[in-house]
Amino acid sequence: MNDIEEAKKKLKESGMKLTTQRIAILQILQHNKTHPTAMDIYRKLKLRQPTVSFTTVYNTLELLTHIGEIKKLTLDFERAHYDPDMSQHHHALCLKCGAIFDIQQSFSLPMESITSEAFPRIVGFHVDFWGFCSACRDASHDA
Ligand SMILES: [Zn+2]
Ligand SMILES: [Zn+2]
Repeated sequence: MNDIEEAKKKLKESGMKLTTQRIAILQILQHNKTHPTAMDIYRKLKLRQPTVSFTTVYNTLELLTHIGEIKKLTLDFERAHYDPDMSQHHHALCLKCGAIFDIQQSFSLPMESITSEAFPRIVGFHVDFWGFCSACRDASHDA
């Protein structure tokens, strides 16, 4: 999601009514680098829009994912996170605080060395990282 107006237009085209609640969800997502969960967004929105339901937030996030405006991240097995940054990048999950960070560095895998008789044509891959963020790194020495 680069432009909020563009996202609004696409939502409308997909048949969804542009309520103030949905527009507020877009505003929370825009330029958001924290990879929020549906609950994070719901809690934030609830302060401004007390009548909003979790279902509205969840359904809007799912639709935005479906129309390609945001990415749904699944590296945290307990809950999905959402990312409005559609540019090519990887993610790292902190095992201590649960925060997700962007890894902008690009790298390649020796694709030709990965072979499977049952799956002869591999055309892509997806990599996530786990570890400790800078705030939690020192604490991890005790573990
Ligand atoms: Zn951390
Ligand atoms: Zn990201």
